Amino acid sequence: MTHSYDADLSLFINGSWKLGEGRDLFPVVDPARGETIAEVPMATPADLDEALDAAAKGFALWRATPVEQRAAVLKKAAALLRERADAIAHLLTLEQGKPLAEARSEVAGSAQLFDWAAEEASRIYGRVLVRPTGQRSMVIKQPVGPVAAFSPWNFPVYLMAKKLAPALAVGCSVIAKPPEETPGCCGALMRCLADAGVPAGVAQLVHGVPDAVSRHLIASPVIRKVSFTGSIPVGKHLMKLAADGVKRITMELGGHAPVLVFDDCDLDKTLDMVVPQKFRNAGQVCVSPTRFYVQEGIYERFVEGFAARTAGIKTGHGLEAGTGMGPLANVRRPQAIAALVEDAASKGARVMAGGRRGNEGFFFQPTLLADVPDTADIMNNEPFGPVAVAAPFTTLDDAILKANRLPHGLGSFAFTENLRQANLLADAVEAGMVGINTFALSAADAPFGGVKDSGFGSAGGVEGMESYLATKAIHMA
Ligand code: NAD
Repeated sequence: MTHSYDADLSLFINGSWKLGEGRDLFPVVDPARGETIAEVPMATPADLDEALDAAAKGFALWRATPVEQRAAVLKKAAALLRERADAIAHLLTLEQGKPLAEARSEVAGSAQLFDWAAEEASRIYGRVLVRPTGQRSMVIKQPVGPVAAFSPWNFPVYLMAKKLAPALAVGCSVIAKPPEETPGCCGALMRCLADAGVPAGVAQLVHGVPDAVSRHLIASPVIRKVSFTGSIPVGKHLMKLAADGVKRITMELGGHAPVLVFDDCDLDKTLDMVVPQKFRNAGQVCVSPTRFYVQEGIYERFVEGFAARTAGIKTGHGLEAGTGMGPLANVRRPQAIAALVEDAASKGARVMAGGRRGNEGFFFQPTLLADVPDTADIMNNEPFGPVAVAAPFTTLDDAILKANRLPHGLGSFAFTENLRQANLLADAVEAGMVGINTFALSAADAPFGGVKDSGFGSAGGVEGMESYLATKAIHMA
């Protein structure tokens, strides 16, 4: 397949596409080859001011637009995403590295988000409180205001859509800042909204230096809500910036998902499911299954079966047929992962599969570490890469203690056929989401979010939509 890169890297501000014009440029790199394939212009402070001004005007217009019209724009954007799916998936794979099939499924899932939000927007209800004196009180929901949305590079199209769709559906305007690694596929998503007829200033796209853009936008009184998906340290930093203006936040931050594998599970079936899931998107998934705690009676068979299946995964360029796993998204990731693997091995972990960086691009082999002690860095810091770590447990209580020992609390998983055990652990695990015998946590109609250091608020589902609404009580005598 051709590796041609035909992306529009313009900013989209106040209904105009802007390119070049003396703006600083940032390289766009194909992570499979480590080669620069284009340069993306960075927004200037004047661009950001223009976007803020347009967002304020766009909000006034959009909130007053009937919900049916807003929904029609979102539905049209979904249709355009489906129509352009092949081209967008191609850009996504070139910029981010994931195999083309995964990129196609990401674009399809993004279209679903717009369809679902378009339909759900007509079901935003208030309530009436009836007083014996004849007084009535109404509780109504209103869009919170212009939103600054910061989305990451691991699911660049899906996570940007997950912020845009509910915010636009309820009547907010949005300034989206996509990650610098993947400007082309994010621009293609914005182009679908523009071609669907979103009015000027309602949905805008700014590329730029993350810290400069977030400081500028969050400091503006125009912005009423900050939505961020990314790492815990950056999330904490943005929460502090938002606190100064008492702005609403949704923070979807890192995880370090435990997987509790009990000895009553069907071991082969479980392994066939967990291994591809671990290496999906090269492990760069905030709910990637990572800490495998396996009941001691089946532990050795589990790690051997995991290692054998891992050895069969073919790494390569995401555009090549037969590639099971692509590279990591940027030059920082293989370095970070190599350091975690070396540290674990030096503390007694057995390297059962992989363990090394690739020769070109940003590859790291699919890796399994067994007998990893709690003192290893990787048992405490999210690897965000293609590394699974395994350790044995004895009882249900022991498994729950191990699952809950970190400040992370995003996704968690368990494999067991015992219903009582499943219910007990689902209650006890400290996480925003629990998958029992499944990894399917993310859907348009389901809340997605974490507890503890993993975040604040939900994306997705009615909870996600609610997060772009303010509640107002109106009392009438
Ligand atoms: P990073 O912390 O440098 O960046 C993470 C994301 O935040 C990027 O998309 C970046 O553009 C953005 N960002 C960074 N500084 C920002 C700022 N001041 N204002 C606004 N946005 C900012 O980390 P990285 O090396 O790119 O990625 C690795 C880490 O990021 C992982 O350890 C993982 O925890 C986290 N991450 C999480 C998710 C998720 O889905 N929760 C997605 C991507 C990355």
